[in-house]
Amino acid sequence: AAGRTPLADRPADALRAFRDEQQQAYDELKARGLALDLTRGKPSAAQLDLSDDLLHLPTTTKDRKGVDVRNYGGLEGLAELREIFAELLWVEPSQVVAGGNSSLSMMYTTIVDFLLFGGVASPRPWGQEQTVRFVCPVPGYDRHFSMLAAFGIEMVTVEMHDDGPDMDAVEALVRDDASVKGIWIVPTYANPSGAVVSQEVAARLTAMPTAAPDFTIFWDNAYAFHHLTEDEAKSADVLTLAAASGHPDRPIVFASTSKITFAGAGVAVLAASEANVAWYLRHLSMGSIGPDKVNHLRHVEFFRDADGVRAHMRRHREIIAPKFAAVDEALTAGLDGLGVAEWTRPTGGYFVNLDVLDGTATRVVQLAKAAGIALTPAGASFPHGHDPRDRNIRLAPTFPVLDEVRTAMAGVATCVALAAAERLVA
Ligand code: PLP
Repeated sequence: AAGRTPLADRPADALRAFRDEQQQAYDELKARGLALDLTRGKPSAAQLDLSDDLLHLPTTTKDRKGVDVRNYGGLEGLAELREIFAELLWVEPSQVVAGGNSSLSMMYTTIVDFLLFGGVASPRPWGQEQTVRFVCPVPGYDRHFSMLAAFGIEMVTVEMHDDGPDMDAVEALVRDDASVKGIWIVPTYANPSGAVVSQEVAARLTAMPTAAPDFTIFWDNAYAFHHLTEDEAKSADVLTLAAASGHPDRPIVFASTSKITFAGAGVAVLAASEANVAWYLRHLSMGSIGPDKVNHLRHVEFFRDADGVRAHMRRHREIIAPKFAAVDEALTAGLDGLGVAEWTRPTGGYFVNLDVLDGTATRVVQLAKAAGIALTPAGASFPHGHDPRDRNIRLAPTFPVLDEVRTAMAGVATCVALAAAERLVA
């Protein structure tokens, strides 16, 4: 890679020769008839196997107070499990609700409650507002954006930096416009950029003046414990920061064991001020008599304590860290020095963010697809699927086996180089 001349600096004939080389490499790639999939951040079978003991748990039917977990009740979730998450998330057990298997569902329910009933500080239900807007750091999680779109909530984008959202832009948006009611934040190992929100940014988010009294930070800490290196990021303690700055009800924290135990049969949690917890449970009680406490109890037996969760995450890391290394190796081998791509080397989470030459992301995904490599659609990490620069591609290397990650990423590098050469020659 060293000594490569950036494509943009090459004379026209050298550029055409490069394009022809890449076209040939691409034709060979296509001829291999691959069928590989890097679209979704799913745990691999080997990762799911780590939690198979759950299938034989729990060993008892009673919680520590002797309550039968098979029965109705306990809307806030099993106390033992809430304690484990309280320690992991730096909050009090009374601030934690343990729910069903999906934190995304809890986010959805929370926003529905805001729309129908309003929150603890809302002058009226959001649904009665003329316009509701959310600040959306980009690139971000596609399902956050599609959820808002489904509710008719407008999305205003700000740039995601290495330490969190562009705070000057965020502060300017929320200061005078009372229709701005919320912001999505994936604070630790963000989807897809891998960024970790710094203490300073978290402090600004919780302290900033907002025109809306019920402005809410949807703090989706889906990857809080999902470290890829020994340098384990510590999430900012957003609830304490918020309480200290006089806005205790501003953040609502979400997390789950979807990428800790079973993506389809884990446990999701919500953490918030006691007022917000009471608000959430009050509305939840109209639609549920209690969560799956059998699942809660088997998770408690499986982990034992917060350290059990941490130890379990290190076993995930052993499986997936080599896959992230393989992504970096393949992209470096194929693209380093060409000046047509930048990518992240995340220290946690589930994604690599690949930015290609402006205007070529759609073409790259199309080329890859035709060669049997399924990538997340270009633009997926932006509201309404629209990346104004058409350059962002989210790579999800956890699900395929290591060898497939290597093959797929070498192929992706070829597609990126070819698409860039096509554009620069034209
Ligand atoms: N939040 C983020 C940022 C995610 O990336 C994902 C899954 O990809 C989820 C939430 C989904 O969480 P759950 O499985 O708990 O619904």
